[in-house]
Amino acid sequence: MAETPRIEPGCGAGCSDWQHVSPGTGPTMSFMHESRAQRVAFGAGQALEFVRAELSRTPSIRPLLIVGSAGTTLAAAISADLPAARIWDEVIQHVPAEIAERARAAAGDADADAIVSIGGGSATGLAKAVALTTGLPIIAVPTTYAGSEATDVWGVTEDGRKITGTDPRVLPRTVVYDSMLTASLPVPLSISSGLNALAHCVDALWAPRANPINAGTALEGARALRVALRALIADPRDSDARDGCLYGTYLAGVAFASAGSGMHHKICHVLGGTLDLPHAATHAVVLPYVLAHNTPGASRQARRLAVALGAQTVAPESALVALQTLRTQLGAPRSLGELGMTEQDIPVVLPQILHSIPSSNPVPVTEQSVAGLLRAAIRGAEPIVKEDA
Ligand code: NAD
Repeated sequence: MAETPRIEPGCGAGCSDWQHVSPGTGPTMSFMHESRAQRVAFGAGQALEFVRAELSRTPSIRPLLIVGSAGTTLAAAISADLPAARIWDEVIQHVPAEIAERARAAAGDADADAIVSIGGGSATGLAKAVALTTGLPIIAVPTTYAGSEATDVWGVTEDGRKITGTDPRVLPRTVVYDSMLTASLPVPLSISSGLNALAHCVDALWAPRANPINAGTALEGARALRVALRALIADPRDSDARDGCLYGTYLAGVAFASAGSGMHHKICHVLGGTLDLPHAATHAVVLPYVLAHNTPGASRQARRLAVALGAQTVAPESALVALQTLRTQLGAPRSLGELGMTEQDIPVVLPQILHSIPSSNPVPVTEQSVAGLLRAAIRGAEPIVKEDA
């Protein structure tokens, strides 16, 4: 009897076991997948035209414009059309609860009928905090590669703790990508932010709702980000590279939103919320340590990631080698120590981290393993895949 042929979609050289994309998924494909409804308008130099079209479609005449440092020109052009628009420009990383409260009050005072956020993840995050209690629709215009615009995840920080949750009200109704708005993003921030996007791709491979659709999306995101970030470091004014970063960012955010938060994001959220470390750079540093930690329990995902990251060989450890090569080429930040974290901070963050890492993580975590990971990341020591993990 003829053998049933195996179909291997989207699988790179040497990767024959594509179907094992999440822990516990057997050789027969069986999974649940949920997509989030959202319109994406993508085009360099077209943000104003796209936002106008979206506001008329919403319809909105009194939008609250939540504006980060790179959004002031666009915000002025939008409000020139709409005299009742209100501009809010107090945007702080990790969304302090007190600012969220005041922005919500401003939305109420202005009788706002929509929110337009123009800025990085912090501006999008504040827009989400307002939408969470008001239900106002968001049009998000990102100026970094944080990817928050593609998710229904919100976060607010109070008393040194970042509380996060998911809610359909905070998912932007429309995302407007205009790479010209990212041209002013300094190279070090572009690199850290791009690696933040890459972290969405990697965590989506083993997060609690990982599935083959998220994996396919995440791996194309990783491939696109690798190519675009290398082009960007060669020429930061390369508009194709900036477009490629936004394309990869969106795929990364979509995969992350669907798969959920894995070990990497749980660690970084605690470090950001409790120690106020810079978000993107923290992700850029922690990613190789989490990849090294999880590779022994996620060898199939690691092989596919190695292909996406352009590795020369497709052994599981090749993903880490390729990531480290990319990070070196990009001049990525190397240690949590250089971002301000010390070993004295470990006992402060460890209980929160251990509590939040999903039990489905491919390699079970212990107090010792997470403390060791943090110590190595503080020093910037070379991450190592432990075969006996
Ligand atoms: P950010 O928004 O704080 O921006 C970092 C700095 O870059 C700021 O000083 C900002 O003014 C500046 N900047 C932004 N765009 C610029 C541009 N084009 N040119 C010049 N300067 C520019 O940082 P971020 O990394 O984009 O976002 C971090 C925040 O987003 C964190 O609070 C994080 O938790 C959140 N986030 C949330 C999600 C989610 O799904 N909810 C996902 C990713 C990030």
